[in-house]
Amino acid sequence: KLDGRGTFRFFEPAMDARMQARRRLELDMRQALARREFQLHYQPQLNLADEQLVGCEALIRWRHPERGLVSPLDFIPLAEEIGLIVPIGEWVLRQACRDAASWPQPLSVAVNVSPAQFKSDRLVETIVSALANAGLPAARLEIEITEGVLLQNNDKTLHTLHRLRDLGVRVSMDDFGTGYSSLSYLRAFPFDKIKIDRSFVSDMDAKDGPGGKDGLSPKADGEAIIRAIAGLGRSLGMTTVAEGVETPEQLRRIRAEGCTDVQGYLISKPLPADDLLRLLSAPDRPARTGAPS
Ligand code: C2E
Ligand code: MG
Ligand code: MG
Ligand code: MG
Repeated sequence: KLDGRGTFRFFEPAMDARMQARRRLELDMRQALARREFQLHYQPQLNLADEQLVGCEALIRWRHPERGLVSPLDFIPLAEEIGLIVPIGEWVLRQACRDAASWPQPLSVAVNVSPAQFKSDRLVETIVSALANAGLPAARLEIEITEGVLLQNNDKTLHTLHRLRDLGVRVSMDDFGTGYSSLSYLRAFPFDKIKIDRSFVSDMDAKDGPGGKDGLSPKADGEAIIRAIAGLGRSLGMTTVAEGVETPEQLRRIRAEGCTDVQGYLISKPLPADDLLRLLSAPDRPARTGAPS
């Protein structure tokens, strides 16, 4: 208001267009489940000790009739805000458990669960029922949470996490190191796995840039941070996964720093369920599928 009326008149149409785009997205999203427009892609995770695949992360995709493939980054936040993430997340859990039950090897399947899903009372029941319907052992399901879930850090969240743990479901801390108090979350709950955010992996390359080695690099040394997190994981008995590994050089250094597992385009991009099944069923399945396709 301090900017005067002119400013308002100037911004109103833009605001209006944004609100309309948002409402459109919301309406489309409300119909997307019924229209079966969502699908899951799976990104393999590789254990570095034996070079075997250990699991896959389920990543939602929205095949919009007009917009084409919509990234989860473009609709999950809104779904979260308006509560639609609860039914969408329920679909993801059921579909991921069904898909995993059909894999030729007993790999684990990791499902991202958002703060709003944790707030709803249905999560544990949904998971129990998804596992039972798919005939998937609880030990093969992994739940990935970000610190947004623990920000609410109330007893209910922790109670839910412990109930999942009691069922035999594993719990991972996703995007570790990006939040404000990552370390305190590690104290709040005994996670099975720490997923090191991929920004640290891409920062590894930064120190070799101009002026890097002598401390003039604009970024701190991502490799030192990865080394520290891997050590932390070892001390706490947690698996450590480096996310977003794209180059052989990153892989070499991550291995040297002691991470237990890796996930990233170098191993494989997220694959449609059929392609993953083909990969897992190939007689001489290579441990690494090579460069991103
Ligand atoms: P996330 O859980 O941290 O998932 C990892 C993201 O990194 C995925 O993006 C994946 O495609 C991408 N990625 C993997 N390897 C590489 C790499 O080597 N290089 C690069 N540049 N990127 C890589 P995606 O699929 O776009 O998902 C983005 C985020 O959306 C996820 O981050 C997760 O927070 C959220 N999300 C995805 N599916 C679901 C879901 O079913 N439920 C919920 N609540 N959130 C989801
Ligand atoms: Mg994740
Ligand atoms: Mg992540
Ligand atoms: Mg993320």
